[in-house]
Amino acid sequence: MDTYYVVNDPKDPIAVRATENRKQDYLFWNEVKPGLEDDFDISCHTLATRTGLSERRTRDITMALYRLAELPLTMALQETYYFLDFSRLITIDAVLSKLGDIPTETLERIDQELARYLTPTRPGQVLPSNTNLRRKLNGLIAVENPNTEEAEETDARNDSYFTYPSFGGKAGLAVEFDEATLIAIDEHVCKAAEEHNLSKAEALAKMLLGEIESRAKVVLHMYRAHDLEAAPAFIRGFGWISPDTADNLHPTQTRNMDLAKEMESESYVTPPLIGAYVEGRDGVCRWPGCNRPAETCQKDHRIDHSKGGKTAGSNLASLCQHHHNIKTDGGAFYIMDPHTGDIVWLFDDGRWEYDEPQGPLAPKNKNWALTVGQAIAARRAAAKERNDS
Ligand SMILES: [Zn+2]
Repeated sequence: MDTYYVVNDPKDPIAVRATENRKQDYLFWNEVKPGLEDDFDISCHTLATRTGLSERRTRDITMALYRLAELPLTMALQETYYFLDFSRLITIDAVLSKLGDIPTETLERIDQELARYLTPTRPGQVLPSNTNLRRKLNGLIAVENPNTEEAEETDARNDSYFTYPSFGGKAGLAVEFDEATLIAIDEHVCKAAEEHNLSKAEALAKMLLGEIESRAKVVLHMYRAHDLEAAPAFIRGFGWISPDTADNLHPTQTRNMDLAKEMESESYVTPPLIGAYVEGRDGVCRWPGCNRPAETCQKDHRIDHSKGGKTAGSNLASLCQHHHNIKTDGGAFYIMDPHTGDIVWLFDDGRWEYDEPQGPLAPKNKNWALTVGQAIAARRAAAKERNDS
């Protein structure tokens, strides 16, 4: 079976031309990018004036290409398919830059998983959106344990609180905390925003200025493998966190998602446990490329409840209001693999698009968490042995 992304569909003239454009763009920038020995600022400046792009864009493209060269497996994929445009390549570099100087073995692990994530496994698969690619990369770096001594030193040197001017009379605030603190703050802000019907930024400002209080009880929903020693965990609405942070969050209630996967209900309304499984499997709305978090989506009965469709993970998919409407209006429909949650969307004009679930319970992510957990457990054991001897 030939596997390919829709952006590379060999039978689609638009996809073929777009691929050729991406390829030429990629080859062009690879050829003209400043060499490592060149004066970087001047080279980017002259490239910018000659191409009409901004200096910033020219710098971002250049950095993205050097970053890709550090990821040989991902680069090999790109140079086979030419499927990644510069906005996605820049995203890869931007997220990995957060790690600073990355040890070779960390880069190798990230490259392996990124290449696996980006390899199409079905014909007509939809390329991950920039947002979902960023989420994936954030997950990859979240589970990398930096050397803590080094990290503390960096924290002391760089103030992680700063303000910056923005456009239209606005200004920004950037702060950094340890994961656990940020998760708690984020939950409080989200709750307060919901409670007072405000945007999150407004809620944060009013909380800090003492104008409102969040009295809501904060509940964290964490997905984590229970049978694995150093498993990373996924916090709903936040993303992946490291095993160390997860170890320090003590659940007040646990539910078994393996059982939830198999549960069925007579009711039309999805019971919370089945809903938690569907959200954990899907991650986001199942319309290819949509980024709406699954917890804000409706649970669509693939086969109508009135036609005997079960209220169970195997017959429910997360769809945001907008894409639920498209399905209800009959412009597209889907079939779903009940075991993996994979979905094929079928359109009126005969085209199809293939969508994989993105959540922590999706088979690919469960496998990844297993691999990461094993690697981290092995690293912990090796460190302990060094300390003991
Ligand atoms: Zn959607």
